[in-house]
Amino acid sequence: MYVLEKAPAKINLSLDVLYKRPDNFHEVEMVMTTIDLADRVELSMLAEDRIKIESENRFVPNDERNLAYRAAKLIKDTYNINKGVRIKIVKQIPVAAGLAGGSSDAAATLRGLNQLWSLNLSLDVLATLGAQIGSDVSFCVYGSTALATGRGELITELPPPPACWVVLAKPSIGVSTQTIYQQFNTNNIAHPDTKGMISAINNNDYTTMCKKLGNVLESVTLSLYPEVRQIKQLMLQSGADAVLMSGSGPTVFSLVQHESRAERIYNGLRGFCGEVYVVRLLGYRQALD
Ligand code: ATP
Repeated sequence: MYVLEKAPAKINLSLDVLYKRPDNFHEVEMVMTTIDLADRVELSMLAEDRIKIESENRFVPNDERNLAYRAAKLIKDTYNINKGVRIKIVKQIPVAAGLAGGSSDAAATLRGLNQLWSLNLSLDVLATLGAQIGSDVSFCVYGSTALATGRGELITELPPPPACWVVLAKPSIGVSTQTIYQQFNTNNIAHPDTKGMISAINNNDYTTMCKKLGNVLESVTLSLYPEVRQIKQLMLQSGADAVLMSGSGPTVFSLVQHESRAERIYNGLRGFCGEVYVVRLLGYRQALD
């Protein structure tokens, strides 16, 4: 038997850090949604009782460091499953980009193993398991649009955001989320208007959604990597309605309503930046079957 899961990338429409907690995690408030740029995660039965990861992308580990491996191990340990699985990851999402690629592969593995091994677990149960793997995994299990609080694992689902095009550009640097959080100072920051973002989405109000984009980590990444700032400027000059860095970066995205404008931004960036994509927002919940 064989199960195929799509693992879509996420973008942060807003990202706020409230304070550092005694357990050293940051308390966050993030509005996230999914985009039509996805890895393919193929799960199939293995005769031996082991987890085998396959990926042709040289930046993706094929051992227990892979978040998909950890997801499979967690399911096996939690439900005492003595079966093996081959997990083939066809990578489309850039790695270490602020797009939660690894977390989405882990979430797709949870959803896929739920089917492959007929576990009949709900998305809520899978999301709770996912929180043990990483802060973004719970969101990726639902793969919809949501407010994520706590360290990112407490999910309140929202309706899909207003339809638009998203142009993404990732400079050829990888950014470590840990490094950015270490350099981040919770004092003297301008917090994004999370409530305003949520009502823009609830009201299907594209213009207000664009105005409310905000990410408190952006200034840290921009100061460390000037190329990220340059990409933002190029996108704005090419006519983006709004531009923001996703997660801890370095990927920057533009929102635009018209396809021709998206193409103009894409063409303006291609010479400057190796990885540029034009996609649609998704923002709908993952189906369980
Ligand atoms: P986030 O937005 O959640 O911070 P990210 O998009 O910045 O994540 P990932 O693409 O998930 O980052 O990769 C971060 C690191 O995780 C990589 O350098 C890689 O070594 C490791 N990793 C583990 N599993 C995977 C996976 N399935 N795909 C990609 N990277 C993975």
